[in-house]
Amino acid sequence: MTQVRTRFAPSPTGRLHVGNLRVAVFNHLFTRRHGGRFILRVEDTDVERNVEGSLEGIMEDLRWAGLDWDEGPGVEEGGRGPYRQSERGRLYREAAHRLEAEGRAYRCFCPDEGAERERDGAAEIGCPGGCRFLPATERTGRLEAGEPSVLRFATPDEVVSFRDEVRGVIAMSAKDLGDFIILRADGRPTYNFAVVVDDVGMEITHVIRGAGHLSNTPKQVLLFDALGVDRPIFAHLPTVLGPDRKKLSKRRGAPGVADFRAQGVPADAVVNYLSLLGWSPGDDREILTRDELVEAMDLGRIGASNTIFDPEKLRWVSSQHLAAMPLDEVARVVEPYLDRTRFPLRDEQIAPALDAIRTRLEALGEVNEHLAILFPTDEVLQGARDELRHDPGAPSVLLAVREALAAVDPWEADALAAAVRAAGKEVGARGKALFHPVRLALTGDRQGPDLGKVMAGLGRKRVLMLLDESAGWVNSQP
Ligand code: GLU
Repeated sequence: MTQVRTRFAPSPTGRLHVGNLRVAVFNHLFTRRHGGRFILRVEDTDVERNVEGSLEGIMEDLRWAGLDWDEGPGVEEGGRGPYRQSERGRLYREAAHRLEAEGRAYRCFCPDEGAERERDGAAEIGCPGGCRFLPATERTGRLEAGEPSVLRFATPDEVVSFRDEVRGVIAMSAKDLGDFIILRADGRPTYNFAVVVDDVGMEITHVIRGAGHLSNTPKQVLLFDALGVDRPIFAHLPTVLGPDRKKLSKRRGAPGVADFRAQGVPADAVVNYLSLLGWSPGDDREILTRDELVEAMDLGRIGASNTIFDPEKLRWVSSQHLAAMPLDEVARVVEPYLDRTRFPLRDEQIAPALDAIRTRLEALGEVNEHLAILFPTDEVLQGARDELRHDPGAPSVLLAVREALAAVDPWEADALAAAVRAAGKEVGARGKALFHPVRLALTGDRQGPDLGKVMAGLGRKRVLMLLDESAGWVNSQP
């Protein structure tokens, strides 16, 4: 089988958002699954819409998401570049002139109106003046006289049909497409023509993109055929709607990589979640590592119906990834989010403190809010001590627990929890009577994360100090 070659073809008009990032995710997973080559192509011919610096932003977003490309900007060597459409003008003109020489395209001297509508997939009227049938001598004469002209594709009068891996066979009368423009009067290619010349030149085997491009595909298919090359396999991904069931778009505030980064959603969780927008691994798994996604990706299981971006579900997927991550890795990736001045944790304290709260963490950016459970303000602690005064059993519990804990070495969650239970036995306290005073003394709250882990996270010094302070306070009050 020939090597799989796919492409992600963003226009440099801004950063990546959920919609186009998902397209990149599907292409990447599919390509890795087949050991193919994933190509980054820059569709930058629409000069007015290009935004300075956005290609760099897109590349940074892709790198963050772990969607590395094998050919494209920065990896030009040995490939089939250039990978920026703005640098491929000669290739478009060559291909267009070949079609012209073969009678598959013709000069049209009518005013160039269609090209602007073409990008939106709006119906084009074709040549209104019958230029397709101009006598050769007239055509040559007008060209030599320097009359401006566009190059139109001579659309055949036939049924154009193609197979989409998601939707099956789609057919329409080619006549309805009109004789569409492929080269503008200034020699620039139109959108559909550039895409096809690029896909041919880059030997793309699979075109995986959003359903919004379905309306472009009949024109593109005709162009592949006219250029005499095999068509790629097409798979059009279902449209992503926002939680309000309206089409997601950057303009309407679709979140992007920058948002996920700011929130601290791990890249693997983003990729996992986006892969589920219109696809499933065919069993009931929803949490998959990247390797598992690569293993399972299959165009045959992409659905056709619209899919909804659900931020809640993304957070859940994120929490599952964080829960499954090795603790030392969580400690490493959380670092940029950690408020070190608010929580003066020594390096070796970070992992145990995270262990106490990580099952509650949906994104790394929440770390400080959850650490605050472990490190309440003095006011909260004081309030808890006032409460403890009404618990006649508290003093003996706190003293016994303090003593048992002081003997624990190494300072580890399971051993600490066992020591608390043993101390409870000694003074005849269990359940709430045992745990409430201890929790209140340590965290100012009756509930919270696993107590053993909380104590491990707080560290020996702080735990013993808090127990001493509480016991002292409780005893000293009448
Ligand atoms: N530049 C197009 C887009 O951003 C992609 C074109 C294609 O995939 O054929 O939607």
